[in-house]
Amino acid sequence: MNPPSPYRQLAKRMIVTALAVALAPLYIMGAAIYFYYSLTEQERTREEIRTQVVNRASSIQVFLAERTSLLEVLVNTANLGDLTRPGRLQQVFGLLNRRSWSFMDLGIIDHNGDHLVYVGPYPLEHENYKAARWFQETMQRGVYVSDVFLGARGVPHFVIAVKHEDGDNPWILRATIDSDVFTKLVQLAQLGLSGDAFIVNREGLYQTPPRFGGKVLDPSGIDLKTVPPGVSVSLRVDGQGRERMMAFTWLPKEDWLLVIIRDPAESLGPMTLARNVEIAVLSLGSLLIVAAILFLVRLLVRQLEAADRQRADCDAQLVHSARLVSMGRMAAGVAHEINNPLAAIGELAGLMDDLMDEQFVNSNPRGPKFKQNLAKIQSHVERARAVTHRLLGFARRMEPRQDSVDLNEALEETCSFLEKEAMFKQVTIDKDLDPSLPRIKTDRAQLQQVFLNLLNNALDAVKEGGHIRLSTRAVGGYLEALVADDGPGIPPELKDRIFDPFFTTKGPGQGTGLGLSISHSIMQKLGGELVFESQPGKGATFIARLPKVIGE
Ligand code: ADP
Repeated sequence: MNPPSPYRQLAKRMIVTALAVALAPLYIMGAAIYFYYSLTEQERTREEIRTQVVNRASSIQVFLAERTSLLEVLVNTANLGDLTRPGRLQQVFGLLNRRSWSFMDLGIIDHNGDHLVYVGPYPLEHENYKAARWFQETMQRGVYVSDVFLGARGVPHFVIAVKHEDGDNPWILRATIDSDVFTKLVQLAQLGLSGDAFIVNREGLYQTPPRFGGKVLDPSGIDLKTVPPGVSVSLRVDGQGRERMMAFTWLPKEDWLLVIIRDPAESLGPMTLARNVEIAVLSLGSLLIVAAILFLVRLLVRQLEAADRQRADCDAQLVHSARLVSMGRMAAGVAHEINNPLAAIGELAGLMDDLMDEQFVNSNPRGPKFKQNLAKIQSHVERARAVTHRLLGFARRMEPRQDSVDLNEALEETCSFLEKEAMFKQVTIDKDLDPSLPRIKTDRAQLQQVFLNLLNNALDAVKEGGHIRLSTRAVGGYLEALVADDGPGIPPELKDRIFDPFFTTKGPGQGTGLGLSISHSIMQKLGGELVFESQPGKGATFIARLPKVIGE
């Protein structure tokens, strides 16, 4: 597996950092706002349910107090003889229920627990209540509101009983409260879809039925030891394991606890909607931010990569140019050192040639061979000298002359030197010269030297019967001369080396490897450049490019 590119790593790091910087505050703020508002909302619900439990408790209290005081007034103002008259208690019962039908029955019980009179739907006239708890409590306290109990009738109910003090013969007025009316009063606090309200006694038994799962006198499951005195609100887990907001208050009757229950999620309904909207907005925002960051980081890294690549190309070109320069200098130094011994060898060979006159040659059997070899030495010295001269010319800092040159004319003239050789090799030279090119200011001789090298190389490259095409054209602020051939082309692995001094692929005695390097340096001196295009197997095209400096 390839190691990840540094640009990918950079992009990754940039994306992660930008996302963290852009999204983290957004999420933190979103969460903070949500928690702040849900806390506020919870506090509001808590206050609401507290007010509700207080109000409901006072309504219940008023209900009970009203009925108790009615009975008290009656007990303390009426006399027993009057009340036990036939039909009298029925009359009083009707009067009591005139305002609200909340009394189920009414009875007068003597101090032995026997019914003296009874008005109501149950056959209780002959009941004795001496053992009943409510009877004993009333005898003791004077006024008593009982818990809910089944009693003789076997139906859950509760009673309010008031004692009339009458020396040794006290009697009790007892009323049963209609549990439907009382239950409705409590159930008014059952709000929403899941709200509940009921009363439990000290033993934790339902005194009014709960809304869900349970009936009167069932155990409520509320641990009364954990309920503080007075009014309290707390989040608790109910019998089904659900979290519920519960408000409690002890009714002034002291042994009844009013319980109001709410589902916090229900009262947080609008909050949940707000949270969902917030999450949707945040998600959309995050998506947009992520898309923008990805787009920008990719753009940035791509530009960075392109800039780096460009710089690397420039660096490579610089290194190449520096190498050319240093090799050129070295070549010039070597040429200079060799030039003097070459001159001496040449001169001595000339001297020896003068000495070897006809007489000397003929008098010695090896004379002709000597003469022949001397001529070879002279020719090789001449060749070597030509090379060193070219080298020295290449390194010398000659200031280019400023001739007025017609590019087409210069190219054609150079070509004419080689036409014979081309004909001999059966190479066709086509020309496509742009006649509208302007004359430019440049060094004619040096330019022709470049053309000569390029044409020589092209002739070397093509096979017998090959083609060379010369053309000129104007491109932007430059004029270009192109020398194209249909030879073997330049293999990619040599592309970086063909401008190096002494680089040649030609056999010994055929190439010096100086033609292209000299041409390259000439073109640079003239303010232009020498480049090439080549597809191996399809030939090569060398382009000499010169600035369009118009000259008359
Ligand atoms: P030389 O011609 O003495 O070898 P150059 O510097 O002129 O030196 O050329 C260097 C090398 O570049 C050549 O040896 C040859 O391999 C390659 N070359 C130059 N021109 C062409 C061409 N037109 N087609 C193919 N190869 C070429």
